[in-house]
Amino acid sequence: MLSKVLIANRGEIAVRIIRACRELGIRTVAVFSEADRGSLHAQIADEAVCIGPAATKDSYLNINAILAACELTGADGVHPGFGFLSENAQFAKTCRRCGVAFVGPNAESIEMMGDKARAKDTMKKAGVPVVPGSDGIVRTLEEAYEIADGIGYPVMVKASAGGGGRGIRLVNDESELENAIVTARQEALQFFGNDEIYMEKFIVNPRHIEIQVLADQYGNVVHLGERDCSLQRRNQKVLEEAPSPVMTEELRARMGEAAVKAAKACGYWNAGTVEFLVDNSSNFYFMEMNTRIQVEHPITELVTGVDLVKQQLLIAGGEKLSFRQEDVRLTGHAIECRVNAENPKFNFRPSPGKITALHLPGGPGVRIDSAVYQGYEITPYYDNMIAKLIAYAPDREQAIMKMKWALAEFLVEGVDTNIDFQLSLIRDPDFESANYDIGFLNRKNVMN
Ligand code: ADP
Ligand code: ADP
Ligand code: MG
Repeated sequence: MLSKVLIANRGEIAVRIIRACRELGIRTVAVFSEADRGSLHAQIADEAVCIGPAATKDSYLNINAILAACELTGADGVHPGFGFLSENAQFAKTCRRCGVAFVGPNAESIEMMGDKARAKDTMKKAGVPVVPGSDGIVRTLEEAYEIADGIGYPVMVKASAGGGGRGIRLVNDESELENAIVTARQEALQFFGNDEIYMEKFIVNPRHIEIQVLADQYGNVVHLGERDCSLQRRNQKVLEEAPSPVMTEELRARMGEAAVKAAKACGYWNAGTVEFLVDNSSNFYFMEMNTRIQVEHPITELVTGVDLVKQQLLIAGGEKLSFRQEDVRLTGHAIECRVNAENPKFNFRPSPGKITALHLPGGPGVRIDSAVYQGYEITPYYDNMIAKLIAYAPDREQAIMKMKWALAEFLVEGVDTNIDFQLSLIRDPDFESANYDIGFLNRKNVMN
């Protein structure tokens, strides 16, 4: 069992991890940048260490500074949260070398899954269905034209090191291919320091359905059902729900089995998410595996009753999974809305600034994961998420009703938010009838 964990992250996920540690009797160390002196995670942890200036490369991505903070405080584990160093195999390896447990999978599985082109190849060999596309990395333009002709337009160009919706381009026909490759490579180089790309068929109007898995260090793997994350803007998730309104027992069993197979194929342990595209004939295709805790993990916690962050900490401490697949039961319905400081009327431009007044909704079945408070200043340096608002009820209809009122009660002054946009979405008749796919928010202006 770990005794002291350093949280190499900030914001709501750092707070979420600190809470899980406390309940397990694990002491906590927060790290913060100079721009985050007043942040909640630095205040509620047992200890807090400043690791550098605001720029992420000097603080939250600074491996040496983070490991120095471990040594200084005697932390025996590091939880990376999501984003930042969470999928950095080098960081996981360095922790291991320094004798600090990385609360995540081993570095080799991160490496394997982080290279999305290679991950697809491994999945194909393991018998998991994948989106048809290039065999690995595409190197030349000639090769790209040939592959696109083979799979047929439209196609997608994707950064092999990608994440967070970056480095992805849709190509409708031959004339767009060259430009898409150039811009995807540029963006990939800028964000991931790696310009390798691969290509796959563009699946028309699928749903994004992902399976949560938990695996211990002894080869035990279970899945905890799915999350429907089809409501996206620019390939970034906006609202998620569990279970998926289009799921059947039979499809869940098949997708769950595929996800477990995926985890086993890379010797995985930790919490992990296997993302699939599902077409309207219920064919599903592996897209990628995220080897970390996911932003939208709370909706799975609510429908399964399993605390995923505690499970991560127990697994990293060498515990065996305490339950089996047949013990996992899904009950009720959960919806998460990501509330961001941004202005939907101006193309969702970020709106940093000071929160001058704040009222958070509450009541039975309403959960808020957040790190803001009245007087808190949202800095332009990092993610602009204010809170995750999660509603849980016995069925979908009641969860929607609860979410409507929770959004209506949510009050933030001083910065612009997307709360009205989320309200329009949750009231949309097509959302209510679950008639949506990943293209929905691009086709329809829900605010009109
Ligand atoms: P999820 O499936 O959990 O929603 P996302 O792909 O949206 O995952 O990414 C999760 C978080 O990680 C987001 O906060 C996103 O901004 C951040 N993120 C993703 N990729 C990167 C990256 N390469 N560098 C920094 N942050 C990233
Ligand atoms: P990231 O690593 O940035 O999360 P993903 O590979 O998970 O990238 O893709 C992000 C989103 O882009 C998906 O959730 C989906 O909406 C869309 N997408 C990705 N690949 C395809 C595809 N082949 N066809 C259609 N949509 C896709
Ligand atoms: Mg993804």
